[in-house]
Amino acid sequence: MEKLLYIPDPLLRQKADKIKKVGSEEIAISNKMMQIMLNAPGVGLAANQIGILKQIVTILFIDQETKKENKYSLFNPKIVSYSKDKIVMEEGCLSLPKQYAEIERPKNIVVEYLDQNNKLINKEVSGVESRILQHEIDHLSGKLFIDYLSPLKRNIMIKKVQKILKNKKNEK
Ligand SMILES: [Zn+2]
Repeated sequence: MEKLLYIPDPLLRQKADKIKKVGSEEIAISNKMMQIMLNAPGVGLAANQIGILKQIVTILFIDQETKKENKYSLFNPKIVSYSKDKIVMEEGCLSLPKQYAEIERPKNIVVEYLDQNNKLINKEVSGVESRILQHEIDHLSGKLFIDYLSPLKRNIMIKKVQKILKNKKNEK
Protein backbone atom coordinates (compact mmCIF):
# COMPACT_ATOMS: atom_id res chain seq x y z
CA MET A 1 0.00 0.00 0.00
CA GLU A 2 1.28 3.45 -0.89
CA LYS A 3 2.21 5.69 1.96
CA LEU A 4 1.87 9.40 2.51
CA LEU A 5 4.87 11.42 1.42
CA TYR A 6 6.15 14.34 3.46
CA ILE A 7 8.17 17.38 2.53
CA PRO A 8 10.84 17.65 1.21
CA ASP A 9 10.00 14.60 -0.95
CA PRO A 10 10.71 15.67 -4.56
CA LEU A 11 7.55 13.92 -5.88
CA LEU A 12 5.51 16.59 -4.09
CA ARG A 13 7.15 19.16 -6.36
CA GLN A 14 6.44 17.38 -9.63
CA LYS A 15 3.57 17.85 -12.02
CA ALA A 16 0.98 15.09 -12.23
CA ASP A 17 0.03 13.78 -15.69
CA LYS A 18 -3.38 14.13 -17.22
CA ILE A 19 -5.44 10.94 -17.43
CA LYS A 20 -6.56 9.77 -20.88
CA LYS A 21 -9.60 7.93 -19.65
CA VAL A 22 -10.89 7.04 -16.20
CA GLY A 23 -10.53 3.25 -16.11
CA SER A 24 -10.34 0.55 -13.46
CA GLU A 25 -6.74 1.46 -12.63
CA GLU A 26 -7.61 5.11 -11.95
CA ILE A 27 -10.63 4.12 -9.89
CA ALA A 28 -8.51 1.71 -7.85
CA ILE A 29 -6.03 4.55 -7.15
CA SER A 30 -8.83 6.90 -6.10
CA ASN A 31 -10.31 4.26 -3.78
CA LYS A 32 -6.91 3.75 -2.19
CA MET A 33 -6.48 7.53 -1.84
CA MET A 34 -9.89 7.85 -0.21
CA GLN A 35 -8.91 5.18 2.32
CA ILE A 36 -5.56 6.83 3.11
CA MET A 37 -7.26 10.24 3.43
CA LEU A 38 -9.92 8.95 5.82
CA ASN A 39 -7.36 7.05 7.90
CA ALA A 40 -4.97 9.99 8.22
CA PRO A 41 -7.49 11.66 8.89
CA GLY A 42 -7.58 14.42 6.32
CA VAL A 43 -10.09 16.33 4.22
CA GLY A 44 -8.30 16.17 0.88
CA LEU A 45 -5.60 14.25 -0.92
CA ALA A 46 -3.80 14.58 -4.24
CA ALA A 47 -2.19 11.53 -5.92
CA ASN A 48 1.28 13.18 -5.75
CA GLN A 49 1.05 12.82 -1.98
CA ILE A 50 1.22 9.04 -2.26
CA GLY A 51 3.82 9.16 -5.03
CA ILE A 52 1.52 8.70 -8.02
CA LEU A 53 1.91 11.38 -10.67
CA LYS A 54 -1.63 11.28 -12.05
CA GLN A 55 -4.21 14.03 -11.85
CA ILE A 56 -6.47 12.53 -9.20
CA VAL A 57 -7.88 14.26 -6.11
CA THR A 58 -10.15 13.08 -3.29
CA ILE A 59 -12.11 15.36 -0.99
CA LEU A 60 -14.22 15.13 2.19
CA PHE A 61 -16.33 17.97 3.56
CA ILE A 62 -19.63 18.76 5.28
CA ASP A 63 -22.24 20.01 2.82
CA GLN A 64 -23.41 23.41 4.04
CA GLU A 65 -26.99 22.87 2.90
CA THR A 66 -27.64 19.27 3.88
CA LYS A 67 -25.12 19.19 6.79
CA LYS A 68 -24.14 15.76 5.56
CA GLU A 69 -20.68 14.38 5.01
CA ASN A 70 -19.82 14.42 1.35
CA LYS A 71 -16.86 12.79 -0.37
CA TYR A 72 -15.90 12.25 -3.99
CA SER A 73 -13.00 11.81 -6.40
CA LEU A 74 -11.99 14.13 -9.22
CA PHE A 75 -9.99 13.14 -12.30
CA ASN A 76 -8.15 15.82 -14.31
CA PRO A 77 -9.60 18.59 -12.14
CA LYS A 78 -9.06 22.09 -13.46
CA ILE A 79 -10.18 25.46 -12.14
CA VAL A 80 -11.78 27.35 -15.02
CA SER A 81 -12.68 30.53 -13.16
CA TYR A 82 -12.12 32.28 -9.85
CA SER A 83 -14.29 34.80 -8.01
CA LYS A 84 -12.87 38.27 -7.46
CA ASP A 85 -13.83 37.97 -3.80
CA LYS A 86 -11.08 36.52 -1.67
CA ILE A 87 -11.18 34.99 1.77
CA VAL A 88 -8.63 34.04 4.42
CA MET A 89 -8.92 30.50 5.82
CA GLU A 90 -6.65 28.25 7.84
CA GLU A 91 -5.02 25.42 5.90
CA GLY A 92 -3.08 22.35 6.81
CA CYS A 93 -1.65 19.53 4.72
CA LEU A 94 -1.11 15.81 5.28
CA SER A 95 2.38 16.21 3.79
CA LEU A 96 3.26 18.79 6.48
CA PRO A 97 2.01 17.24 9.73
CA LYS A 98 0.81 19.64 12.43
CA GLN A 99 1.49 22.80 10.42
CA TYR A 100 -1.26 25.35 9.82
CA ALA A 101 -1.36 28.80 8.28
CA GLU A 102 -3.91 31.40 7.28
CA ILE A 103 -3.98 31.66 3.49
CA GLU A 104 -5.90 34.05 1.28
CA ARG A 105 -7.50 32.60 -1.85
CA PRO A 106 -10.47 33.29 -4.12
CA LYS A 107 -13.75 32.55 -2.36
CA ASN A 108 -15.56 30.65 -5.12
CA ILE A 109 -14.32 28.72 -8.11
CA VAL A 110 -15.71 26.92 -11.11
CA VAL A 111 -14.12 23.52 -11.36
CA GLU A 112 -14.16 21.11 -14.28
CA TYR A 113 -13.28 17.43 -13.94
CA LEU A 114 -14.13 13.88 -14.98
CA ASP A 115 -16.09 11.78 -12.52
CA GLN A 116 -15.74 8.00 -12.00
CA ASN A 117 -17.91 7.38 -15.06
CA ASN A 118 -15.81 9.60 -17.35
CA LYS A 119 -18.51 12.22 -17.35
CA LEU A 120 -17.29 15.81 -17.66
CA ILE A 121 -18.60 17.83 -14.71
CA ASN A 122 -18.53 21.60 -14.51
CA LYS A 123 -19.72 23.20 -11.29
CA GLU A 124 -19.35 26.20 -9.06
CA VAL A 125 -18.15 25.50 -5.54
CA SER A 126 -17.87 27.70 -2.47
CA GLY A 127 -16.96 27.50 1.21
CA VAL A 128 -14.73 24.74 2.50
CA GLU A 129 -15.23 22.67 -0.66
CA SER A 130 -13.76 25.50 -2.76
CA ARG A 131 -10.85 25.88 -0.37
CA ILE A 132 -9.96 22.19 -0.27
CA LEU A 133 -10.16 21.86 -4.05
CA GLN A 134 -7.88 24.86 -4.63
CA HIS A 135 -5.34 23.39 -2.21
CA GLU A 136 -5.49 19.89 -3.78
CA ILE A 137 -5.43 21.08 -7.39
CA ASP A 138 -2.28 23.07 -6.51
CA HIS A 139 -0.65 19.78 -5.47
CA LEU A 140 -1.13 18.41 -8.99
CA SER A 141 1.19 21.09 -10.33
CA GLY A 142 3.72 20.61 -7.54
CA LYS A 143 2.54 23.57 -5.48
CA LEU A 144 2.13 23.57 -1.70
CA PHE A 145 0.22 25.95 0.60
CA ILE A 146 3.48 27.09 2.19
CA ASP A 147 4.41 28.63 -1.18
CA TYR A 148 1.95 31.43 -0.34
CA LEU A 149 3.93 32.29 2.81
CA SER A 150 7.08 34.36 3.19
CA PRO A 151 10.33 32.38 2.73
CA LEU A 152 11.03 32.82 6.44
CA LYS A 153 7.71 31.33 7.57
CA ARG A 154 8.00 28.60 4.95
CA ASN A 155 11.45 27.53 6.15
CA ILE A 156 10.35 27.49 9.78
CA MET A 157 7.50 25.10 8.88
CA ILE A 158 9.75 22.84 6.81
CA LYS A 159 12.21 22.62 9.72
CA LYS A 160 9.41 21.86 12.19
CA VAL A 161 8.18 19.01 9.98
CA GLN A 162 11.68 17.54 9.73
CA LYS A 163 11.93 17.63 13.51
CA ILE A 164 8.53 15.95 13.94
CA LEU A 165 9.44 13.21 11.43
CA LYS A 166 12.82 12.64 13.08
CA ASN A 167 11.21 12.25 16.50
CA LYS A 168 8.67 9.86 15.04
CA LYS A 169 11.49 7.70 13.65
CA ASN A 170 13.29 7.66 16.98
CA GLU A 171 10.16 6.48 18.80
CA LYS A 172 10.00 3.29 16.75
ZN1 LIG B 1 -1.95 19.31 0.95
